[in-house]
Amino acid sequence: MIAGAFGGSLKGRLKGVTESRISKRIAAIAESATLKVDAKAKALQAQGRPVISYAAGEPDFATPAHIVEAAVVAARDPKNHRYTPAVGLPELREAIAHKTLTDSGTSVSAAQVIVTNGGKQAVYQAFATIVDEGDEVLLPSPFWTTYPEAIALAGGKTVEVFAGADQGYKVTVDQLEAARTSKTKAMLFCSPSNPTGAVYSREEVEAIGRWALEAGIWVISDEIYQNLVYDGLKAFSITEVVPELIDRTILVNGVAKSYAMTGWRLGWMVGPADVIKAAGNLQSHLTSNVSNVSQRAAIAALTGPQDEVLAMRESFDRRRKLAVAELNKISGWVAPMPEGAFYVYSDVRGLLGRDWGGKTINTSLELCDYILDAAEVALVPGEAFGPSGYVRMSYALGDDAILEGIGRLQKLFA
Ligand code: PMP
Ligand code: GLU
Repeated sequence: MIAGAFGGSLKGRLKGVTESRISKRIAAIAESATLKVDAKAKALQAQGRPVISYAAGEPDFATPAHIVEAAVVAARDPKNHRYTPAVGLPELREAIAHKTLTDSGTSVSAAQVIVTNGGKQAVYQAFATIVDEGDEVLLPSPFWTTYPEAIALAGGKTVEVFAGADQGYKVTVDQLEAARTSKTKAMLFCSPSNPTGAVYSREEVEAIGRWALEAGIWVISDEIYQNLVYDGLKAFSITEVVPELIDRTILVNGVAKSYAMTGWRLGWMVGPADVIKAAGNLQSHLTSNVSNVSQRAAIAALTGPQDEVLAMRESFDRRRKLAVAELNKISGWVAPMPEGAFYVYSDVRGLLGRDWGGKTINTSLELCDYILDAAEVALVPGEAFGPSGYVRMSYALGDDAILEGIGRLQKLFA
């Protein structure tokens, strides 16, 4: 940017020197595509447009009442009006260690846990703590839109490893090995996956875990959807299946998705004690502790009754089947059945290169723009998660909204 009337130092202006106002590191970051599409849909809804948004991965349910009550009680107690330790309340770290044993089959101490402002901060801190300038990170693609930005902020280089619908959106060890170089420091693993809903089987997790162990690379395993799996499946934790990996694995998780608590901003990272200590030092300067009230709510979530979690999962399961059945009625639209999370990742290449609404649409980005304009339905284009040709739909919406929105798509592409 040329320093002009609106910016730049006096010195820069006087000498006519070109000056960048935003640091290269931050200027290189793109706005989160998922949040951007969601914000656009909400802005249109605020103008009175009947937009149906399948954009953000956010449960439509209210947070279960006993969790909200715990927060209300906590907010009234002045002891919760203070800072907690930057890494979180000891009781919550204990509860998270317990959940890690129960759900991830991995025994850790409370000292190996940091409570973060959502899983997102845990993702960022995980990369920031172990990645050095120039290190390569293997990223199975399609990937959640935040990972490459967090890797870049840490000075790392993302190496994408693409797995299409033909392989169930799951990468293989052969693909990972082909992408590995002497600079490979870590790999990201996310099962159930955002954006595809793919769930790796125990054998697949084990193969990847053994390969990572042998290759001596770190695994950052994002388990935020671990409780949202269907058809009696289980999402196996990489450290449960390959326990020797524990010394080089960081588990990322949070309450947002399973407990319908996206707005409470509470996640965590679990890892080897030295990594957790170092990440805690970072967090002590970055954000300090997560809101005390949210931490109390999370204790209630993790230690209280789990029946509402199961009920929400049943609703997601029903909506998943409904959405897939309806989407597959559109000719050229291929929606594989996801096994976890709350996303359907459709292959829409059959609709591209064709005339829609009077012009040729060549990319999934153009297709999503067209769908939003013509049918008032918001979807996130595959470009946000990897290659063009795909669209993500979050089915964490009521059944009526799912039917209405997909009905509009069926008419649009009839
Ligand atoms: N990981 C994945 C794969 C996600 O989809 C999300 C959702 N935003 C997160 C982490 C972080 O969630 P949150 O920050 O809301 O806890
Ligand atoms: N994880 C959700 C999504 O992918 C929430 C939005 C975000 O933080 O990216 O849509």
